[in-house]
Amino acid sequence: MIRLAIQKSGRLSEDSLKLIRECGISFISTTSKLKTEATNFPLEILFLRDDDIPGYVADGVADIGIVGQNVLVEEGLQDLTVKNLGFSKCRLSLAVSKGDEYKDVTTLSGKSIATSYPNLLQEFLTSKGVEADIHTISGSVEIAPSIGLADAVCDIVSSGSTLISNGLREVETVFKSEAVLIANQSLNQEKSRLLQQLLFRMEAVQKAQKSKYVVLNAPNSAIPEIKNLLPGIKSPTIIPLAEEGWSSLHSVVNEDDFWDIIQKLKEAGAEGILVVPIEKMIG
Ligand code: ATP
Ligand code: ZN
Repeated sequence: MIRLAIQKSGRLSEDSLKLIRECGISFISTTSKLKTEATNFPLEILFLRDDDIPGYVADGVADIGIVGQNVLVEEGLQDLTVKNLGFSKCRLSLAVSKGDEYKDVTTLSGKSIATSYPNLLQEFLTSKGVEADIHTISGSVEIAPSIGLADAVCDIVSSGSTLISNGLREVETVFKSEAVLIANQSLNQEKSRLLQQLLFRMEAVQKAQKSKYVVLNAPNSAIPEIKNLLPGIKSPTIIPLAEEGWSSLHSVVNEDDFWDIIQKLKEAGAEGILVVPIEKMIG
């Protein structure tokens, strides 16, 4: 049995649960409880506040966990990282009041900055040679300048709309974050084996999400050029069509260069291009 800690309710919860389900693990979803057990994998899920997850994993109360890098690094526990998960992307940014003059970080010298991330902020300021007065507050950081509590804030941003609606202007990125899988550093053999199984499944899910299955028809004369455009896992599958001189090609393309490749395929003479999502991808 391996114990996984995830956020009980918040911006990490939904995607954490989705990832577990995509790994083929079923459980009765009850966030009203503190824990639940999977029905088809030796996994127990603990629902916690995100801030408590790194500490619990470090202490072995939970074996593994899913948490934002912002919280993990703030708590100085980045060594627990096993894998980046690619969701809950956000950044820790410095912001000043909309009307305030701002040239560069040195503008903040001697100013007071409100944040829930004093360690990350301190490290950033030190790296820039700036000394400022850090006020640690646990929530509603964005209202600090308007109530006269601080000159600037250092807070989590994703779209930036919260800052704008509070009359603030984002001026520096302090830290970029995404969700990561973390693990206790002295897992026993059984738990290590279960972690490896979970990692194997997560990688298959992530690879599949980054890839598309492409099917197309092409005249045989265009096959050499199209083959070069479609690397596939090994190489594309080529199947002759009933129509003389034509073939169907099947392959896998990476989402990042997807549109680029489709354009080139059309130019090379491909027709009837089908793009199909992939559920899992192994090897
Ligand atoms: P908890 O009650 O568990 O302590 P919280 O209020 O501290 O929750 P959330 O706001 O749910 O935390 O955010 C959890 C994590 O989600 C953040 O630490 C961050 O890594 C990530 N995140 C992603 N997008 C955003 C965003 N737009 N605003 C805040 N956090 C975000
Ligand atoms: Zn929290």
